[in-house]
Amino acid sequence: MTTLYGGLEGGGTKFNCIVASGPDDIQAERRIPTTTPAATLALALDFFREFPIAALGIGCYGPMDLHPQSPTYGRLFAVSKPHWSHADLLGPFRALGVPLGLETDVGIAALAEIHWGAAQGCTDMVYLTVGTGIGGASIVDGKLLHGRMHPEMGHIHISREPGDDFPGCCPFHAGCLQGLASGKAIHERWNTRADQLSPGHPGLELEATYLARALLSFHYTLSPQRIVLGGGVTMDQPQLLPRVRERFQEQLAGYQPPDDDLDRFIQPAALGNRAGTLGAIHLAQRALAGRDGEVDAVNAVNPVDAVG
Ligand code: ZN
Repeated sequence: MTTLYGGLEGGGTKFNCIVASGPDDIQAERRIPTTTPAATLALALDFFREFPIAALGIGCYGPMDLHPQSPTYGRLFAVSKPHWSHADLLGPFRALGVPLGLETDVGIAALAEIHWGAAQGCTDMVYLTVGTGIGGASIVDGKLLHGRMHPEMGHIHISREPGDDFPGCCPFHAGCLQGLASGKAIHERWNTRADQLSPGHPGLELEATYLARALLSFHYTLSPQRIVLGGGVTMDQPQLLPRVRERFQEQLAGYQPPDDDLDRFIQPAALGNRAGTLGAIHLAQRALAGRDGEVDAVNAVNPVDAVG
């Protein structure tokens, strides 16, 4: 019998739920509007209860606590979305009695792209989504990088172009990468959407310069085999990616390139809007296999016992 998995992608406006045995066999889907945590997660739980799923993978916007040994594991930290600060993303789904996996929304998209999308065959990759905001995830030696919390690649500092006096739109850091180069920043700076920028518009060059600057930092710090760019700003504006590669090449300034072929090194996401939910299915498969997520927490040696 086919093993079924549940995948949940939680966002600020909707929670996408799917049931699938794999990327080519999606058996059911439901889109739930994001209201309060109690109402939204209860509707998602009702949906997954209709199917005999063997595990559930959950990806959600963050920041969140991903450390299985932490007392607040599975909860969001303080977030700007009303009602959702410290929401427990895992608790309601324990009623399903199946292994649960949890990652950030960009983390599950990265998993999908490395297993079924634009970074197949790689062990090390960076995924960056450039939409209303900017988020990123890194897979290092086949594992999603967490560290103390999880990477927040949208909030790195990048140097400004001379003459750029846009204050930046990040509520925390103003002129971080997200503050200068997100879809929101493009809209506030030029009063238009990224996909509406004409080929000669200065906003295109500026966007390419800033994104290339960020990618160069990720290349030098994480040494990925591939960088995959997703999100509406990069996917809906076909002029942008070639320019990002050109600016990246320039900013290398003759130093050893990561790949002879930058078309191969910097690629658009292959799975589009499907990356999140498919990545959640992959996360569920890993949770069932005991390689990630809550199963690890259950099986982990209690540190106190280890000392004793
Ligand atoms: Zn920021």
